[in-house]
Amino acid sequence: DTIGDNFDRTVAAFGDRDALVDRAAGRRWTYTEFAAEVNAFALGLLELGITKGDRVGIWSPNRWEWTCVQYATAKIGAILVNINPAYRSHELEYVLNQAGIKLIVAAESFKTSDYAGMIAEAGPKCPALEHVVLLESAEWMSLLENGHGADPARLAERQGELSADDPINIQYTSGTTGFPKGATLSHHNILNNGYFVGELCNYTEADKVCIPVPFYHCFGMVMGNLAATTHGACMVIPAPAFEPKATLEAVAAEKCTSLYGVPTMFIAELADPDFASHDLSSLRTGIMAGSPCPVEVMKQVIERMGMAEVSICYGMTETSPVSTQTRADDSVERRVSTVGRVGPQLEVKVVDPETGLTVPRGEPGELCTRGYSVMLGYWEQPDKTAEAIDAARWMHTGDLAIMDADGYVNITGRIKDMVIRGGENLYPREIEEFLYTHPDILDAQVIGVPDVKYGEELMVWVRMREGVEPLTAEAVREFCEGKLARYKIPRYVHVVEEFPMTVTGKVRKVEMRERSISILG
Ligand code: ATP
Ligand code: MG
Repeated sequence: DTIGDNFDRTVAAFGDRDALVDRAAGRRWTYTEFAAEVNAFALGLLELGITKGDRVGIWSPNRWEWTCVQYATAKIGAILVNINPAYRSHELEYVLNQAGIKLIVAAESFKTSDYAGMIAEAGPKCPALEHVVLLESAEWMSLLENGHGADPARLAERQGELSADDPINIQYTSGTTGFPKGATLSHHNILNNGYFVGELCNYTEADKVCIPVPFYHCFGMVMGNLAATTHGACMVIPAPAFEPKATLEAVAAEKCTSLYGVPTMFIAELADPDFASHDLSSLRTGIMAGSPCPVEVMKQVIERMGMAEVSICYGMTETSPVSTQTRADDSVERRVSTVGRVGPQLEVKVVDPETGLTVPRGEPGELCTRGYSVMLGYWEQPDKTAEAIDAARWMHTGDLAIMDADGYVNITGRIKDMVIRGGENLYPREIEEFLYTHPDILDAQVIGVPDVKYGEELMVWVRMREGVEPLTAEAVREFCEGKLARYKIPRYVHVVEEFPMTVTGKVRKVEMRERSISILG
């Protein structure tokens, strides 16, 4: 199936059900109503001369128009390029040129970002760029109007020419470990991944999925939008960018059955002073993913948010994204402490990064994924693609994992984050998990910093719960004493208000390391 054909089938089956709610805009659409907007925008693009294979950039926080553009471009076979909402003009210029974007749809501004101004600045240096369509502008309105007036047969004809293996989306990775890379994904890649995520969440047309994670990232546009629309479920946008209060309000007001987030989002929701005043009893399931999901947080999500079936997903942009997922019928212990088993129609293996040979169950190694979800490649970066995907089409994830005898996977960290202290391999994840059990610690991130004697030493950055005194380094070490092996106890402790984060809510350890080096002198 192509995304457009699949969407049409959902509209035919569930036309009068809710498709989309944009809380900030105060608007809602049934599938029939939403399809009318999508088709109009798709026809408007065709009228402008945008066709299959052209790159269409989208630069906006989460709003209904994002979703509209996602499905409209899929219907005509244009390749949607997700542009990071945090970008500044030189990064914008890079992505416009790297992907050869012909038309950009953008919010005029968001928070302190003047998108229109930055496009005006970068545009003249981007020869491929022909059209700029700002949301709610006269161009946006006339594009929709032209589309509403155009002959729908043109769209049907174009849609019929597409193939499920065509590239349809360029998604940039989060940039957690370096410069973001553009993963090129096909209909087949992301439509199937969204479908299977929805299957494992047991979605039906009765579900309402609250999506506070960015659409810019696969977590929002695939695990959110595509999982919902392949099942006739409703997408709820609580706010343009993540806010704990707006999220809790959206769940209560819309009676959402599912809620998504990276761990830091759930931590913020659970810590919200008004948490108890929201009725979250409609929640049945949800997904936590994107970075290590602390057991403590998972337990609280089940107990205090009532998300009895919550699932952990693991994956990466390059694999559309999900590779492993916990199932509703897995034991609670496994659902809070592993990233589940391999998803339907996929393969995973754990290999020795040196030899490439599969390691025995229970031993750590690099996780590799193969199957329908593996990207076509990095956009116009064949050398980077060859480094990531081997000749047998295995995607090498750069993540360290252990698979148990029953196939449940534990992510023990990123190869790049592993700390080697005095020849001993240390996994920050294990130490972080332990620190989460301290009642005053809200969040903890462990990194390695250079050390003359040991090569690397452990440092922990800590965020305290509201209203408690910052812990001293001695107090943190005392807490670990006797419970963690000596060499795993962090030597340095740094208390902060916030961690450096990516837009997708991941902690940028690279930046923490750089800042730590200058703090330690
Ligand atoms: P970049 O590749 O640009 O450095 P990134 O890897 O963070 O950034 P994404 O594709 O958004 O970009 O994220 C994929 C990574 O997120 C995985 O490789 C893994 O390290 C981490 N991750 C995702 N889900 C989980 C999870 N459930 N548990 C632990 N880590 C996870
Ligand atoms: Mg990555």
